[in-house]
Amino acid sequence: MRILVTGGAGFIGSALVRHLIRHSGHEVLTLDALTYAATLTALAPVADDPRYRFVQADVCDAAAVGRAIRGFRPDVITHLAAESHVDRSIDAPAAFIDTNVVGTFTMLNAAHAYWQGLPPVERARFRFHHISTDEVFGSLGDTGAFTESTPYDPRSPYSASKAASDHLVSAWGHSYGLPVILTNCSNNYGPYHFPEKMIPLMIVKALGGERLPVYGRGENVRDWLYVEDHVRALQAVFERGAPGRRYNIGGNAERRNIDVVRALCALLDRLHPRPDGRSYAGQIDFVADRPGHDLRYAIDATRIREELGWAPQESFETGLEKTVRWYLANADWWRPILAERAADQRRGLAQSPNGFFNASR
Ligand code: NAD
Repeated sequence: MRILVTGGAGFIGSALVRHLIRHSGHEVLTLDALTYAATLTALAPVADDPRYRFVQADVCDAAAVGRAIRGFRPDVITHLAAESHVDRSIDAPAAFIDTNVVGTFTMLNAAHAYWQGLPPVERARFRFHHISTDEVFGSLGDTGAFTESTPYDPRSPYSASKAASDHLVSAWGHSYGLPVILTNCSNNYGPYHFPEKMIPLMIVKALGGERLPVYGRGENVRDWLYVEDHVRALQAVFERGAPGRRYNIGGNAERRNIDVVRALCALLDRLHPRPDGRSYAGQIDFVADRPGHDLRYAIDATRIREELGWAPQESFETGLEKTVRWYLANADWWRPILAERAADQRRGLAQSPNGFFNASR
């Protein structure tokens, strides 16, 4: 098949592209605007493959998107392009509305026009696969997990923009019959993760001898998903998932942030001890919390397991060790990013720490 991957130069998109080129016979076109979050070096391992192509374009640019689709004639569009960092969305939400809402609308319109003109066999095979987040469901208490029918309750500008995009995708399925599929996944981690996100940030700061900034008391819980498990799930969904269906994807690996950071420190103590022999855990520093910080996310991935036979291959321990080893071996990838883009600057404190809605719940 021909797979068009928007956002293919980002963290998950590039993992998907590398996976498809290495482990499937599919042809891949990456469409990406190359924002601050993109790293073309993450695509270097497959860039010379004859089944791989790249086009630089903004998903809000209807003419460029239309040209790319008509030229490539995809069987599947996997739509990952997005502004993805919650802290940045609190400081500067406009780009999130543009890319995540208007960009998804533009992609849907272009996909619909193209799909209508396809011959019947290709029309039946086509899928528009939208990649979204568990953050659209809001925050959980101490128990329970998000299912595909959990009501939406987004609480950050990021999750609200993703929720809006999910509703648009669903509407294009219902109103126009476009064969859409939606997946909502939990927090990803693994190689090539931009070092402003928690796990890579902690690794590079630890190695740099800096303080490890844990938000609040580190009690927020995330359900961690190794990125290579995620991309296998995405492939299963667009190859075998039913049109109009939604699938939650999670790693079955809930951890408190502070426990993640302690586990990282323990791994680094073993794999790359500090010169003074002390533990990296001594660098942990509790800092001001993210405003409106959702307490807990957890995914119930029963549907994708039962219907498509997918399950994560990595436990949190094996995935985290692979990740730490990768960052230790690939400083050539992340050091230039830190130098060029001030990736570790603290963001997302622009608003009052007790937002109105937060206080009222
Ligand atoms: P990322 O920030 O690493 O990459 C996003 C990519 O999209 C970048 O390459 C960027 O250049 C591109 N992009 C941004 N704006 C664009 C535009 N206007 N036009 C074209 N390209 C544009 O993001 P990621 O972590 O790889 O996430 C990918 C998708 O998965 C997103 O839709 C995100 O909401 C979703 N998601 C991510 C996670 C996670 O843990 N990373 C969890 C749940 C859902």
